[in-house]
Amino acid sequence: MITVERVISGYGRLRVLREVSLEVGAGELVTVVGANGAGKSTLLRTIQGLLPAESGRISFQGTDITRVPTERIVRMGLTLVPETRDLFADLRVIDNLELGAYAHRAERDAKARRVKAIEEVFDLFPALRERQSARAGALSGGQQQMLAIGRALMTRPRALMLDEPSQGLAPLLVRQIFSAIAQLRDRGLAILLVEQNVRAALRLAGRAYVLETGAIVASGPASELMHDEVVMKAFLGRAGGVPRKATSGDPAGR
Ligand code: ATP
Repeated sequence: MITVERVISGYGRLRVLREVSLEVGAGELVTVVGANGAGKSTLLRTIQGLLPAESGRISFQGTDITRVPTERIVRMGLTLVPETRDLFADLRVIDNLELGAYAHRAERDAKARRVKAIEEVFDLFPALRERQSARAGALSGGQQQMLAIGRALMTRPRALMLDEPSQGLAPLLVRQIFSAIAQLRDRGLAILLVEQNVRAALRLAGRAYVLETGAIVASGPASELMHDEVVMKAFLGRAGGVPRKATSGDPAGR
């Protein structure tokens, strides 16, 4: 579904990604884990066309999208839920969802289809149905994340990229959000999930890549990486990154 081949990208002279390659298959939930500043957001922004790749190739469903404008990539069915959530704080929940559809394919979406899509978002996140007339800015952090995901779903994606959806959320909300992500995967959506919450992400994903200072240093089945010494050493002591085995004796994992 998504193929990234030897991609280099960054900001001006600052090269962040150093020949990153990865793949997400149809219906697969893949996670990229890495510490603060490893380049996770840069990777997703590059795939979405928000940041140009200096070299390498990115394709979606077999089509080269390396130099395709973001709007077209979204129309092709690949949508990013940014870390910053980018909601319209002064608009109501329902308007934010409507705009998700308008921003990308208004002309094609009949009202009835939009209403149906909104209902599907409300079924996934019942809290949003209850607060549909509230201003987005008045929502809790967890509800804002739900709305950001809901708005992305309004573009009818085949693949969704999520940038640290658990950031700043209490554990109960993280579980709710992750459970919704699992439901989306079960419905056949391909998902590329970027997380600092390593343990939770590895539990959810089928496969994983570890990004360290802009390079992939490990990859494989998530269940195996969870028990990989090198991987866990990279995250030891970081929130959510301590392997289960190591926590039994000492909470710091030492
Ligand atoms: P975080 O969890 O903090 O979001 P990350 O793994 O997503 O981390 P990136 O946000 O991709 O990391 O940042 C990677 C590197 O690129 C960092 O050194 C960061 O300072 C730098 N960087 C990010 N955004 C910009 C920008 N707009 N201009 C210049 N440098 C940037």
